[in-house]
Amino acid sequence: MNDHRRLGRELGIFDTDPLIGAGLPFWLPAGAAVRKAVEDYVHELERRNGYQHVNSPVLGKRELYERSGHWAHYAEDMFPPMEVGGEEFVLRPSLCPHHAIVYRSRQRSHRELPLRIAELGGMYRSELSGVLGGLTRVRAIQLNDGHVFCAPDQAAAEVSAALDLIEAAHERLGIRAARYRLSLRGEGAKFVDDPAMWARSESVLREVLKERGRACDEERGEGAFYGPKIDIQIADPAGRESTLSTVQVDYFQPERFDLRHPGGERPVMVHRSVVGGLERLVAHLIEVHGGAFPAWMAPVQAVVLPLSDAEHAGAEQVLRRCVEAGLRAELVPAGRGSLGARIRAHRLVPYQLVVGPRELAGGGAAVRLRDGSQVGEVPIEQLAARSRPFG
Ligand SMILES: [Zn+2]
Repeated sequence: MNDHRRLGRELGIFDTDPLIGAGLPFWLPAGAAVRKAVEDYVHELERRNGYQHVNSPVLGKRELYERSGHWAHYAEDMFPPMEVGGEEFVLRPSLCPHHAIVYRSRQRSHRELPLRIAELGGMYRSELSGVLGGLTRVRAIQLNDGHVFCAPDQAAAEVSAALDLIEAAHERLGIRAARYRLSLRGEGAKFVDDPAMWARSESVLREVLKERGRACDEERGEGAFYGPKIDIQIADPAGRESTLSTVQVDYFQPERFDLRHPGGERPVMVHRSVVGGLERLVAHLIEVHGGAFPAWMAPVQAVVLPLSDAEHAGAEQVLRRCVEAGLRAELVPAGRGSLGARIRAHRLVPYQLVVGPRELAGGGAAVRLRDGSQVGEVPIEQLAARSRPFG
């Protein structure tokens, strides 16, 4: 079974150390490479779909979260405040309040709307150490987040567009959703008590799901504190489910932050995460692909293998051309074992470039794929082009 904790260590993706703390994994070079490839892909996907990217701080004053409603409804999942200079600061439990502030930081004109902003940023959860493990239960999350500020009659279209984005990303990443879930409010103080507001946002989500013909289970008590969510669930090899991607319709925070469109009307905030937190996403990708990542996200995309020491200098040239073409590549010298042994040791690398006497004469390399097929000499530029998520 592909357990991401075992494979993640074997592949050099991540590790943890008690001195840093439980639930605070660090990314090793192979993991950082996968993560960067995924980050770049999602950034570009969002850019192509009308998002503008912002960056905001990972903490804010306690008053910010009192305003957003987190303090009243979400405090038990938040780290306690830190006092500095007579003020209290909190590690943020979500990016939403910062993005509401970004929206209202200047007068908005009609041609800016709907305003779609996105950020890959840190958020923090005070999970108890007993439940922490691997990349799936962590205290620090790098979240792919985004918020669309639009008119009420645009909300359904924006929810649908967010689902398009999510579905496109899942396909490119090789992920299959276990199911869609409509997560509704439950009992108690965890949820904002405004039945009319909940009914309004639920009806938008239901309308979109119906229009898309998407079957969806409903679950009470799984909504955000301010509104219902469409959750896209994934399952690990043991069948345990978790939420990867989400879309929410929110009338609450625009009210709390007194957001206005030009003309004075209140915008709706559509919250969406295309791929969720990068920790959980990469954990899932490790399990789904068993370490044989698609070429565009593989930690090492090409390995250059000289047949013998006689081809070493030629192999170095091939390596340099790979690196300059944008490939993550490495050279494994003949001294590290027979060609067969070196191929086996790098069987997860998408392109294995063998340099023998014939290739040395031609200045190229014979390309072997992970499935063992030989595709002969392929120009390095072409390999690089095949190793990009958008081609
Ligand atoms: Zn949000």
